[in-house]
Amino acid sequence: MNSFFGRADKNARDNLLRILLLIILVGLIIYLVYVTGGTKKVFVQLMYIPIIMAALFWGAYGALVVGLLCGVLAGPFIPLDVSLGIMQDPVNWISRSLIFSLIGFLTGYMIDRINKLYTEKHERNLKSPFYNLPNAQKLFNDIEKRIRSMEYFRLIAIKMTNLYEIEKYIDNKLVYDIVDNLAKKLSHNRGQNAVYSYEKDELIVLVCEHCAHDYEEYLRNVLDYYFTFPVTMSGYKIRVSLKVGIYVYQGEEKTPIEIYNKARIAYEQGDAKESGIYYYDGNLESKRRRIHNLTGELLESIDKNELFVMYQPKIDIMNNRMTGVEALVRWKRNGTEIIEPNIFIPIAEEIGFINRIAKFVFDSVTTQINIWKSKGIDINCSINSSVNELHEEIYTLWAKDIIDRKKVDKTGFEIEITERAIAYNDKILIEKMCRLKGEGYQISIDDFGTGYNSLLSVGEIPFDKLKIDKYFTHQIDRREIAELVKHFIEYAHTFNKTVVAEGVETEEQLNVLKSLGCDEVQGFYYSKPLMPEELEAFYIEFCRRNG
Ligand code: C2E
Ligand code: MG
Ligand code: MG
Repeated sequence: MNSFFGRADKNARDNLLRILLLIILVGLIIYLVYVTGGTKKVFVQLMYIPIIMAALFWGAYGALVVGLLCGVLAGPFIPLDVSLGIMQDPVNWISRSLIFSLIGFLTGYMIDRINKLYTEKHERNLKSPFYNLPNAQKLFNDIEKRIRSMEYFRLIAIKMTNLYEIEKYIDNKLVYDIVDNLAKKLSHNRGQNAVYSYEKDELIVLVCEHCAHDYEEYLRNVLDYYFTFPVTMSGYKIRVSLKVGIYVYQGEEKTPIEIYNKARIAYEQGDAKESGIYYYDGNLESKRRRIHNLTGELLESIDKNELFVMYQPKIDIMNNRMTGVEALVRWKRNGTEIIEPNIFIPIAEEIGFINRIAKFVFDSVTTQINIWKSKGIDINCSINSSVNELHEEIYTLWAKDIIDRKKVDKTGFEIEITERAIAYNDKILIEKMCRLKGEGYQISIDDFGTGYNSLLSVGEIPFDKLKIDKYFTHQIDRREIAELVKHFIEYAHTFNKTVVAEGVETEEQLNVLKSLGCDEVQGFYYSKPLMPEELEAFYIEFCRRNG
């Protein structure tokens, strides 16, 4: 408000100065015209100078008025010839006044047009090429201003982690609607220009420090109520996962890009597929750098014998029976530090090393199954498969080769494919899944609920088991989440499919899942992933206790 009045004051002051300047100029010209003998001399044409200046100051209509005034001032009161005392013919000065105003109006109009084109170009340069939002340049300008005025603020970067998948596999028009909708929610109480679009799948919000608390509370509600559940948009049921990174600026960094990068580094925490809000902390950068350094070492991990497989039991909760295990790969880097698959599998996929890992896991698992068999332990085993592996033409060939060589029964094998990788129109992948099923493998849809197939196209995907993501299990005490999970279970049961809930950690979660009709569970409540010998002991103990 203060700054508004400040600006209004300044405008009034500027206009007053301009009016004074023009009055002095017009006065001098009239004086000059008079002393040089009257309007018959050329000096009356100098009136175009104040008229053009008025066009610059006030545009077309301002110049029209000034043109008319100049015409009148240089009109009836100034003689045509001072020495002879001959006054001007009214037609003469009236037409001159009209010409002055016309020239003033046209000049002002042209200046207005040029200004408008310039402003439009300037605004275009500050607009996102994807959405109707200000862009990175505008964001950096605004951050710069705040740095200069020594204001503290928070930069909130919001990454839509599965937006490109939605664009690629579902509908690219839908992407615009999703982002538009999200931007509207994010601009809540912040005005139209507070939300910036940086990349196609990223929005940024700049929040002043004193309103940060309320805004973050609001953001949490948005995440909870709009982005936990699949929403129906343009006939699709989709769930957009949002990772939010917050950087609190307290005057340390010098450049906008440093500040922006910190907000982005913040959202790289947590599970890539799960929505969440994360704050920047100084250790993140060195951790991130370390991960990038892993790439070279990962390539040597198999030859150096650093990869190994752990097994996590799956329990049939209706009959208290252990139905199988899930094989989960681990990397013991340099023989000491355990690196989790969530970190090295994406790197392996990026550098084309995933197939070597897949073969290693297949080989280890088949060997292990034979060892257990020789000890009288006959359990099914599921193997995770990334979409890159499945897209490889010879996946089934080498898998078959290993299985034949080790003489293992394929029906005891389950292949887990994450829901996010399965698009209902990815014909090649669905064909591959059909082929795997035809060859006798069981198929599981892993991390169900985190993708965009939820309930829409599952009927078209060949599968045997549906594994509900631990994201839902961990919130199963929320009534609306329990409802959603119940819906998943009923839906899978109509297709005669088995439902497994991942990530069960407490008895309460187990009981809710039981009451919802879930068939199997997997999670720390029963056991963490185990080494083969530990798994044997678990199996024997579990069978002993449950008959
Ligand atoms: P996933 O297939 O969904 O595996 C389940 C993950 O949840 C495992 O993490 C497991 O340790 C963890 N988990 C199990 N029970 C609980 C619980 O009660 N609470 C919590 N908080 N977590 C639990 P892990 O082993 O770190 O594996 C992460 C992901 O890495 C897997 O998710 C899978 O997508 C991928 N992965 C693991 N092994 C392989 C592999 O051999 N090949 C491929 N392509 N991906 C793999
Ligand atoms: Mg899995
Ligand atoms: Mg999973």
